[in-house]
Amino acid sequence: MSTGQVAFTESEERQELRKQVAKLAASYGREWFTERARAGEKTTELWLEIGRNGYLGINIPEEHGGGGGGIGDIAAVCEELAAQGCPLLLMVVSPAICGTVISRFGTDEQKRRWLPGLCDGTGTMAFAITEPDAGTNTHNITTTARRDGDGWVLKGQKIWISGVDEADNVLVVARTEDARTGKLKPCLFVVPTDAEGLEHTPIPMEIVSPERQFQVFLDDVRLPADALVGDENGGLVQLFAGLNPERIMAASFSTGLARYALERATAYAKERTVFQTPIGAHQAVAHPLAQSHIEIEMARLMTQKAAALYDAGDEMAAGEAANMAKYAAAEAACDAVDRAVQTHGGYGISQEYGMAGLLVATRAGRIAPVSREMILNFVAMHSLGLPKSY
Ligand SMILES: Cc1cc2nc3c(=O)[nH]c(=O)nc-3n(C[C@H](O)[C@H](O)[C@H](O)COP(=O)(O)OP(=O)(O)OC[C@H]3O[C@@H](n4cnc5c(N)ncnc54)[C@H](O)[C@@H]3O)c2cc1C
Repeated sequence: MSTGQVAFTESEERQELRKQVAKLAASYGREWFTERARAGEKTTELWLEIGRNGYLGINIPEEHGGGGGGIGDIAAVCEELAAQGCPLLLMVVSPAICGTVISRFGTDEQKRRWLPGLCDGTGTMAFAITEPDAGTNTHNITTTARRDGDGWVLKGQKIWISGVDEADNVLVVARTEDARTGKLKPCLFVVPTDAEGLEHTPIPMEIVSPERQFQVFLDDVRLPADALVGDENGGLVQLFAGLNPERIMAASFSTGLARYALERATAYAKERTVFQTPIGAHQAVAHPLAQSHIEIEMARLMTQKAAALYDAGDEMAAGEAANMAKYAAAEAACDAVDRAVQTHGGYGISQEYGMAGLLVATRAGRIAPVSREMILNFVAMHSLGLPKSY
């Protein structure tokens, strides 16, 4: 194998993983996925099947039921599912954020209790940091955790939390008061979704997806001492440990959807003839699709670089690359879907072809989990050394 191959292509094992996941997802397919979404039903069979096959926990240590792989592996799974038209948003959250945080910082007992369920899909975990008033400025969250004897009491409100209705637990970011300094610091708590005092209300969204977003109310939710993940004083570090995997996964989710849209558009452009030739023979149709192919491949490359850096333990470099990957992937996906809609003409906005439904799903990638503006702020400040603007 030449050095070039080592540096710029994924391992044969990773490529085989992609093939296997794509095959499994194709046996469900886009039609099945959208039918479920439109009927208000879930895609639990697919979730459990990827769990049974070892793909869901591929990044979790083997001793806790996982595959012992890295973020690059789980990101590949996420991308291939989306590329077959079956994007599973909870993959970003359950195995990648929650799985990473618990694997890295949980006690042995916490790992034993929660990780096997994350891996086989029977113990899915949502993640809740965003709050209505704080928004992007997560330093301003006001959900508090106060000590109550041996345990904790949580009070506050969260918004846009994905998959609370499907999750057994939710990893909540709350603030505790430092006994010595009185300062508030972020901490992570695993809260059962059926805990007394936890309520969730669905937010009607325009995304065609079985996975939904919720407002979550925490009204004096009592938790045992060991609901606190890791160290009370290390919350910020622990929280940040989940954010790079989140961005890499979000990028993979976007590139997967972009690939799906481009593949559909290309197939349509080859077969649809309205003058003498298939519409794909017109450069006005072909060039935007070629442009998307380039943009998607560039975003994929940056995503793979971010994952490789993260898995090699270079968190600083991974942070920059993960932000850039997430930005590039969301832009590539929005443009690819828009071009795919245009290629389909009127059918582009029909339910039968399902292209327009992807517009909102990919558009969400410019907003969540971190907005494009905040990534540009990060790159301006950290990569270019420009002054902080906010
Ligand atoms: C589909 C979906 C799923 C989600 N799932 C989850 C989840 O599971 N868990 C969770 O905790 N959260 C989740 N979120 C929340 C998501 O992370 C937030 O929506 C996102 O961080 C933006 O916050 P906000 O919506 O409050 O926007 P705001 O903070 O109100 O920002 C509004 C706009 O102002 C811009 N802006 C704000 N400050 C600045 C600045 N300093 N400079 C430049 N521009 C700025 C933003 O970029 C944005 O465009 C989800 C959101 C969506 C849409």
